[in-house]
Amino acid sequence: MQQILDDIAAEMAQEIDRGKVADYIPQLAHVDPNQFGIAVATPDGQLYSAGDADTLFSIQSISKVFTLTIGLGTLGNALWTHVGREPSGDPFNSIMMLEHESGRPRNPFINAGAIAVVDAIMMGHEPKETLAEILQFVHFIADDDSIRFDHKVAASEMAHKDRNASLAHFMKSFGRLKHEVDKVLGVYFHQCSIAMNCEQLARAGLFLVSNGVNQHTNARVISSQRSRRINSLMMMCGHYDGSGEFAYQVGLPGKSGVGGGILTIAPGKGSIAVWSPGLDHIGNSKLGLKALERLVEKTGWSVFSD
Ligand code: GLN
Repeated sequence: MQQILDDIAAEMAQEIDRGKVADYIPQLAHVDPNQFGIAVATPDGQLYSAGDADTLFSIQSISKVFTLTIGLGTLGNALWTHVGREPSGDPFNSIMMLEHESGRPRNPFINAGAIAVVDAIMMGHEPKETLAEILQFVHFIADDDSIRFDHKVAASEMAHKDRNASLAHFMKSFGRLKHEVDKVLGVYFHQCSIAMNCEQLARAGLFLVSNGVNQHTNARVISSQRSRRINSLMMMCGHYDGSGEFAYQVGLPGKSGVGGGILTIAPGKGSIAVWSPGLDHIGNSKLGLKALERLVEKTGWSVFSD
């Protein structure tokens, strides 16, 4: 595995077309596109990594996997009254389908869906308490208490909130959001701002590799049924309108973020975190996708073969 990751990192270092760094907020626009990191955590406790695997980056939409897990833990199946579980085929920040579906977002991984999940888990809590719960959960699954929010990134998102605020107000107009829009957005932007490196992120995904149990810490995080279901959602919806392509090329559940990270789960085999800030036109990491294609070629990992 170490050799495979070293080869992939060496190959990615040669790539000229690295995509375009997200520029909707200055904090992300300033990130150097010439970076690439990859890490694989396996259920037997090993951690392999290469490239810039210990450089912190903004996990952005990858955090939606964690808030979905918390939401299902808090509300159980009642969460599905707030959000659907069908692929959207639309960009992550699209408003179009919301009107057709009376303000109920298609799935928890598009922005509107993640905002609806946040609103649901805020029930009965102050925003600060919800934020503490999210960070504590990430500490627990990654087995690492040093992970933090990046308050500058969160503040920058708030200063450029127009699109997400529109989605939230639109849902609220259908009576779908219970809390004040700015409070919900404050929590959503902070969850997106969590800074992690590939090694921490790979560890954080381990509970989805082994049927809900983090084999590194021996902690059961969720039931095996829930772990299977979260993996299905990642496979169907984790890359927005690029989800079909990701399933075709990589064949594993994955979740991307505009910070350039992708968390990918190979059930029973390993949790893979890859990061390179340059994005394709959909908003998914360009080299991240390429690196994962190489990894599955070399390992044969896929949920469609054994
Ligand atoms: N914070 C980003 C946004 O809301 C997350 C989007 C993403 O990572 N795709 O626009």
